[in-house]
Amino acid sequence: MRYGMSMLNNLHYIQNNGEKAFLANQNKKYACPECNKPRTVHYDYCIYCKQEKR
Ligand SMILES: [Zn+2]
Repeated sequence: MRYGMSMLNNLHYIQNNGEKAFLANQNKKYACPECNKPRTVHYDYCIYCKQEKR
């Protein structure tokens, strides 16, 4: 059985720093420049801005 190293690292980070620290770290990487909300790597657009413009 194999597990992705990045996922194991994420879990380890959460256990050491807490979920909020983990999310804050993610936000720095993927925060939307428009609304400052966290973006997901799965979309190349901001889902929050997209919803507002609908
Ligand atoms: Zn946005």
